Amino acid sequence: MQKKLLINGRLVAGQGQVEEILDPATARVIARVAEASTGQVDTAVRAAESAFAGWSQTPPKDRATLLLKLADRIEADGAGFAGIESLNCGKPLAAALNDEIPAVADVFRFFAGAARTMHGAVAGEYLAGFTSMIRRDPIGVVASIAPWNYPLMMAAWKLAPALAAGNTVVLKPSEQTPLTALKLAELLAELFPPGVVNVIAGRGETVGAPLVGHPRVRMVSLTGDVTTGEKILKAASKGIKRTHLELGGKAPVIVFDDADLESVVSGVRTFGFYNAGQDCTAACRLYAGAKIFDRLVADLSAAASSIKVGRQEESGVEMGPLISAEQRSRVAGFVQRAARLKHVEVTAGGRAGSGKGFFYEPTVIAGARQADEIVRREVFGPVVSITRFKDVDQAVSWANDSEYGLASSVWTQDVGRAMQVASRLQYGCTWINTHFMLVSEMPHGGLKRSGYGKDLSSYALEDYTAVRHVMVKL
Ligand code: NAD
Repeated sequence: MQKKLLINGRLVAGQGQVEEILDPATARVIARVAEASTGQVDTAVRAAESAFAGWSQTPPKDRATLLLKLADRIEADGAGFAGIESLNCGKPLAAALNDEIPAVADVFRFFAGAARTMHGAVAGEYLAGFTSMIRRDPIGVVASIAPWNYPLMMAAWKLAPALAAGNTVVLKPSEQTPLTALKLAELLAELFPPGVVNVIAGRGETVGAPLVGHPRVRMVSLTGDVTTGEKILKAASKGIKRTHLELGGKAPVIVFDDADLESVVSGVRTFGFYNAGQDCTAACRLYAGAKIFDRLVADLSAAASSIKVGRQEESGVEMGPLISAEQRSRVAGFVQRAARLKHVEVTAGGRAGSGKGFFYEPTVIAGARQADEIVRREVFGPVVSITRFKDVDQAVSWANDSEYGLASSVWTQDVGRAMQVASRLQYGCTWINTHFMLVSEMPHGGLKRSGYGKDLSSYALEDYTAVRHVMVKL
């Protein structure tokens, strides 16, 4: 297993503290990774800074060629990447291989193409005798900080637009799941000029903080928790650095009485429990009309109980463990506190799995009220709550009454109502009669405390570039 860091084109051993990396399905140590020392953080940033002049001037088609090669190489070793990802995260191997690897390759391919179509908006004479034009230019060294739920995909979401736009990058994966980013580092070392991409492992306080605070870093991109976003904003304010924040979520799912019950149940079975619910867009906060409520509770509870939970390579496994013992206790705490409420009923799951792994049963909580913690706070686990609403205004106002604003969905057979509700929801994305589906061409990102960075799509290229005015005296 590749455990070295990538700094200035070379794979080097970390000189900081050694972190134990676990298989969440067994709690077994699968690797020991030495994190970057503060000196190595500095070397990586300086390498990225030196590489910027050359990389930012590299023609888009040549940057695109390298991104396309990277996509091909990831795909060619898809089984290798998926194996490590599923081992490190505990997720089903088939999901890592069939869902994530193709999506990762597609992100690099999309941005390879998009890099070649990026253009400024105007060229014109706004003052007699002068021509003005707008350019979109890269920003400089980007510090990219990723979470543990989709480590390779988050690395792709961060690297692809930043590099396509001509920035250089220092990527820090999560200390809990660094293994696929370190494997990717091998390919990056082979394909990219030294310093253009650097990968350093380590914890938030010891490696993330010095990286964010480094005076030569010009932009910080984070996918992570809201509180981490707040810390990063504070640190970035010192150097007036640009920030790109993708924070948590608590997606409302509004189910009207006329919705197709079967597709709601099969949709939430998938989109509420995928990746054990450790997904910022997870369909976790259901609001159901009074007439459909009882049937939805019964059918969804049965469907959730039918989800096959198990280890990565078990045949037919649909859901793995949570990432850590700590995350499982956090999830269990939310469920226990909800279960103590008289108006709440736990209609499926509600317990930890047996064995050493960090398993937790797919859980459905019926009758939760708008003010309840389980409705308001991000659980980041396999837990779905269902709340009854009386009319469309109440559903919309409860859905919007959240600190989060990342993703939402509306389920109804009335297209007019779906469109009206979609127009009133304050979320970065609203799906109609589905949930969770992402495509590289469309932006992903939130409002409110979910942050404001856009991943994917040409909007990500805008985030990773600065608008500049060039004026020529004629
Ligand atoms: P986290 O915030 O604990 O960690 C994210 C990353 O930030 C890690 O690499 C961590 O080492 C680093 N970090 C922590 N403190 C830091 C500091 N002071 N300075 C610099 N770096 C620091 O989040 P997590 O637990 O890894 O991931 C779960 C969270 O991520 C959830 O809240 C989830 O909703 C969110 N998330 C959001 C999206 C999205 O697209 N909006 C996607 C996935 C996950």
